[in-house]
Amino acid sequence: AIRVRYAPSPTGHLHIGNARTAIFNYLFARHNKGKFIIRIEDTDTKRNVADGEKSQLDNLKWLGLDWDEGPDVGGDYGPYRQSERKDIYTPLIQQLIDEGKAYESYRTEEQLTADRDAQKARGEMPHYEYEYAGMNDDEKAQAIADAKAKGLKPVIRFRVPKNHEYAWDDIVKGNVSFNSDTIGGDFVIRKRDGMPTYNFAVVCDDHLMKISHVFRGDDHVANTPKQLMIYEAFGWQAPKFGHMSLIISADTGKKLSKRDESVLQFIEQYRKLGYLPDAMFNFILLLGWSPVGEDEIFNKREFIKMYDETRLSKSPAKFDSKKLEWINNQYVKEADNSTIMDLALRQLIAGGNIPANPDNKTIEWARQLIMLYKREMSYMAQINDMASVFFEEPDQIDGDALAEISNDTAPVVLKEFLDRIQKLDIFDSVEIFKTIKAIQKDTKIKGRQLWMPIRIAVTHEMHGPELPESVELVGKEKAVEHIKETLA
Ligand code: GLU
Repeated sequence: AIRVRYAPSPTGHLHIGNARTAIFNYLFARHNKGKFIIRIEDTDTKRNVADGEKSQLDNLKWLGLDWDEGPDVGGDYGPYRQSERKDIYTPLIQQLIDEGKAYESYRTEEQLTADRDAQKARGEMPHYEYEYAGMNDDEKAQAIADAKAKGLKPVIRFRVPKNHEYAWDDIVKGNVSFNSDTIGGDFVIRKRDGMPTYNFAVVCDDHLMKISHVFRGDDHVANTPKQLMIYEAFGWQAPKFGHMSLIISADTGKKLSKRDESVLQFIEQYRKLGYLPDAMFNFILLLGWSPVGEDEIFNKREFIKMYDETRLSKSPAKFDSKKLEWINNQYVKEADNSTIMDLALRQLIAGGNIPANPDNKTIEWARQLIMLYKREMSYMAQINDMASVFFEEPDQIDGDALAEISNDTAPVVLKEFLDRIQKLDIFDSVEIFKTIKAIQKDTKIKGRQLWMPIRIAVTHEMHGPELPESVELVGKEKAVEHIKETLA
């Protein structure tokens, strides 16, 4: 049976790279009618943050993912938090100790650092040096007794087999192999605080939870040989592995760094700005995977149907913000008006452009405004900038715009327009449109010469959304005022 998992460490918000790992596991499970499991890897207690787990799960749900087993929904293979599985790891670690495959190590952090410095000075790769080298059993027992008497707490190290090849057929990368002598020596499987390390816990859990395939980031490739050794030590069969390529910035060609604030990298940030979750899902899954053919926009059901793990790319995935905006805009254009209205209204409030508890008149005004910009937006927070002419007193009319209205016909148009709109009882885009058409008929002025002076006088801009709608949104009072100023 196909069983895959996404195993976040609750060390912060959901990062775009982790969201991608989750999405690929999810699609693989759903495509194959298998199970998708969430497991929280929280053994690195120092790095855990409050609400880290909640935020991870909330953001996965926001992206439209659901799971069959996990800390919040339970399942037959729980608990689904590693911190709650200590009783499961303890006898397994003991088993390895009893079989001579693991041992207590008392080397202190200071000693280990000194060892590594000395190794570097000798031009060697830093590694753990077996601390009981050359000792017979009695000497070794004495060394341990001395350490205990000093009150030292041990870590448990895994005895790495010498000069062994650990190889696997990676679903993404093809054949990968490591010689056991290159991985840095016997590694820690239980820390001084009694918690298992990631490499140990992940193997026990993937085995006990009957995980069939592991898709994870490239950054874990070097952990895989260590994990294979543990599978071997227990006589368990390892799952199939697929390591997904790095995500690099399309601008710099460098690996996306969490510290680079010029690229938003946390799902939470996109959510706050009013991106659409389905669009984000679509964008993220194109990071290192591609459908057959040219089309790139599909809904989730279609992606599940067509998903094929052999199309995961070996080469780095380019994070391209222009593509992100383009995809999001495609989704915004297709989205229900009511969805867009809800999200954009929140952004207008957050931007301080309408009050927090708008009255019905303001809501209706905002609705028209939002609909006017719907097709242009990639995400809803853009409305605040895009529509700023409707919130702020416009800037002075600048050079180019001034040139547009410094001709003989502009004052004629503006005077006519001013006279006629002042008489309008209903000031809406339909009436405004009719008014402009009537001026055209009566004055024979048409096209740019007719529309541009009105746009510039009313909004002080040469570009903007539909003119009648724009004039309506500026409102009668301000429109009249702005035209009078322009004519003065
Ligand atoms: N907790 C690990 C991480 O967040 C998961 C690695 C794995 O999937 O094995 O990177």
